[in-house]
Amino acid sequence: MIRRLEELLKEALEELKAASTPDLVLQAKGKYVGRKGGIASFLKELGALPPEERKSAGEAINRVKAEIETGIDRLLDGFKSSDRDEKLKKERVDITLPGRRIVSGRLHPVTQVMDEIEDIFLGLGFDIAVGPEVEIDYYNFEALNFPSDHPARDMQDTFFVGGDVLLRTHTSSVQPRVMEASRPPLRVIAPGTVYRKDSDITHSPMFHQVEGFMVDSRITFSDLKGTLAHFLKSLFGPKTGVRFRPSFFPFTEPSAEVDIGCVICRGSGCRVCKGTGWLEILGAGMIHPNVFRAVKYDPESVTGFAFGLGVERIAMLKFGIDDLRLLFENDLRFLKQF
Ligand SMILES: [Zn+2]
Repeated sequence: MIRRLEELLKEALEELKAASTPDLVLQAKGKYVGRKGGIASFLKELGALPPEERKSAGEAINRVKAEIETGIDRLLDGFKSSDRDEKLKKERVDITLPGRRIVSGRLHPVTQVMDEIEDIFLGLGFDIAVGPEVEIDYYNFEALNFPSDHPARDMQDTFFVGGDVLLRTHTSSVQPRVMEASRPPLRVIAPGTVYRKDSDITHSPMFHQVEGFMVDSRITFSDLKGTLAHFLKSLFGPKTGVRFRPSFFPFTEPSAEVDIGCVICRGSGCRVCKGTGWLEILGAGMIHPNVFRAVKYDPESVTGFAFGLGVERIAMLKFGIDDLRLLFENDLRFLKQF
């Protein structure tokens, strides 16, 4: 029996030596020291031995069993640690690599300028109002004292949706809406999108305007001048020159075009200001009595001023953009610069 035991041990050790994977080791484990393995069958034989031989035979079986188990444990440990080494090698983190940059989005230049304009007027105590982009003729033209034969009402300038319905051509349409719904004193700006049939390097069929107006019992033209001078100097810098020229709009009387000193050449004359040193920046004036009549205000007891400006034009001047269309092509290489 001892001889057969030694043979079993030799066979087991050889099989373990050849076992190249943990699975093969476990297979050998079952075959030799498992419940139905070689060692177990030796233990069964013990009962048949004469009592004086049992003790030494039992000891021999246990010794062989222990030797096989030690071999198995050592092999399994070896597989475990080489597994770990491999894993460590594979999951190694190179801390010298540059990190992955997170690209952050940013606000469109038109939005940035719009926000800045709103902030300046909010600081002056103005409220913000909005109106519909799909508007009716009444608020876009009639309530603003546009005569029925005014060229702005022409099919060539205005997108008509059908009948009296059109895409608003200016945010001035918010003015009669707000005045109808509330009573003076009013200090309001109305930012938003407007539409006109126009498209070239300085015109887009869709663009943004900010309309502003102030109505109270004794608003004068000097309130208008002071408000706009403060606004333009806040937007373009404290040294910016501001001048008013007489003009005409149906909904204001008197009316003015407002210029700023050229922000490109600082007044010496360049291509952008066409050599004049001045840039036309917005239109303004005292609200026409007919506009007050349309909203049932008494033009004898209230006065007010109104102004309107194009946001894209201001963005182009502030950022030195020479083609308006760049603002709407949404080329990231362009937008990233702001
Ligand atoms: Zn200039």
